[in-house]
Amino acid sequence: MVEKISKNMVVSVHYTGTLPDSGEVFDSSEGREPLSFLVGHGQMIPGFEEELIGASTGEKREFTLSPDRAYGDREEEAMMKIPRAQFAQLEQSAKLEVGTQLVAQMPHGPAPFTIIELDDESVTADFNHALAGKTLTFNVEVIEVRDATEEEIQHGHAHGISGQQPDAQPAKTCNDDGCC
Ligand code: ZN
Repeated sequence: MVEKISKNMVVSVHYTGTLPDSGEVFDSSEGREPLSFLVGHGQMIPGFEEELIGASTGEKREFTLSPDRAYGDREEEAMMKIPRAQFAQLEQSAKLEVGTQLVAQMPHGPAPFTIIELDDESVTADFNHALAGKTLTFNVEVIEVRDATEEEIQHGHAHGISGQQPDAQPAKTCNDDGCC
């Protein structure tokens, strides 16, 4: 029987993502291991999964996602002015510039941001995802489709192409509620 992609299956794909306006490739699995993910657990942007439902191994699909099905719209609230003094230590070893990408350690985990404005007093940080507000085109080739293991469904993520791959960060233990 041919396995078709649906919820609680682990899918491995090769993909290339381009910006349809410029043709610029923003991400690709070319030259890397295929990307494996568990369908229906929020591992991927919503449209990416939706467009692959029903596909089977060897199938190729191309689709274009508007921001609401990809990384969402850019939000004003995700921009923040931070006193430049908070960067004093970092500035001893690194030069801050507009466009510099950094990671803030927030209570809920690391939060990447881009510097969009800089003066003597403050740094304006943009916490929007770099692809927020953008329409994205994906070319996807399905490499493998299989049922997820019990453990993967519990964890809410794929354990590699085989299902046997240990979690990338063994220091993190998974909670009972399935949130790692
Ligand atoms: Zn896990």
